[in-house]
Amino acid sequence: MIIVPEKDIASLIGRAESLDAVEAVFAAMAAGDAWNFPVIREAIGHADALYGFKSGFDRKSLALGLKSGGYWPGNEARGLTNHQSTVLLFDADTGRPHALVGGNLLTALRTAAASAVSIKYLAPKGAKVLGMIGAGHQSAFQMRAAADVADFERVIGWNYHPEMISRLEETAAEIGLPFEQVSLERLGREADVIISITSAFAPSLLDEHVTGPTHIACMGTDTKGKQEVEAALVARARLFTDEVAQSVSIGECQHAIAQGLITQDDITEIGAVINGTHEGRGDAELTLFDGTGVGLQDLAVAARVVELAQERGVALEVDF
Ligand code: NAD
Repeated sequence: MIIVPEKDIASLIGRAESLDAVEAVFAAMAAGDAWNFPVIREAIGHADALYGFKSGFDRKSLALGLKSGGYWPGNEARGLTNHQSTVLLFDADTGRPHALVGGNLLTALRTAAASAVSIKYLAPKGAKVLGMIGAGHQSAFQMRAAADVADFERVIGWNYHPEMISRLEETAAEIGLPFEQVSLERLGREADVIISITSAFAPSLLDEHVTGPTHIACMGTDTKGKQEVEAALVARARLFTDEVAQSVSIGECQHAIAQGLITQDDITEIGAVINGTHEGRGDAELTLFDGTGVGLQDLAVAARVVELAQERGVALEVDF
């Protein structure tokens, strides 16, 4: 069995490989070659922790396995990351364990890759202004990945906690783009592409805020009850997602579904656009990608990390 510890992930895989891996698995999902198994998520009644599994199988790449992990709110006080993830891959031919891979950085990379794939396929032509809602841990990964797939000239941002905005400012500076903190009204009016990555349970971006041809990637809502944008805005958009079952139950679309504004037939898997079986943006004014985060994304990037470790001769092998 191959082991790739968390500390080695950053030197093995970057944004480009993550984007390719996530794009390929979205395509396999839409073609019916890959599927996610039901998600398990439980409050374990210890350390205030939420723990669970996301798992699946990609018949095309033969990635089989699970991401195990969750949220330990007391970790920060111990100098550890609150979100903890580990990926376990199995040999699809024998069921034997294939690899154990640190999943913390991979989660951020695969989440940013998902919105970047949506921007690559759905952003309005000539998109110049990136609007960021959210300035937490994931936001920097999101901005960097978005800048890889579109020629943005500037970044504008809004955050519920204004004192956190410096993360967006610093990340924009790192990628060489000017940054301005703006109101949600300006953000909705001026941004060609909007990424929302917050842990909110009530909408920040309202239907009336968004005026022009825009692509919105809603990346924060991954649990029942969370919400980042108004349901009416969702209902006005041409809708895409990673997986329809998650979009309507734990994703941003859950609220528009519950209010009867849309049905699940209004939502298309982004893989269909990648595979060329759906036209994508077409003549739509507004597109919205509901990035709920599927286990297959984790398996895809973890499998790529294992390949890269093997190619570079740095894979740590144990007799298991
Ligand atoms: P974080 O705790 O570092 O940052 C949270 C962000 O949400 C901050 O910008 C904060 O200001 C904002 N926020 C908090 N309360 C808010 C409110 N009431 N209204 C508006 N904004 C508010 O979190 P993070 O690690 O950056 O993750 C952000 C979200 O992304 C989380 O909800 C997380 O579960 C989700 N996530 C999704 C995926 C996926 O695949 N879709 C993957 C990883 C994380």
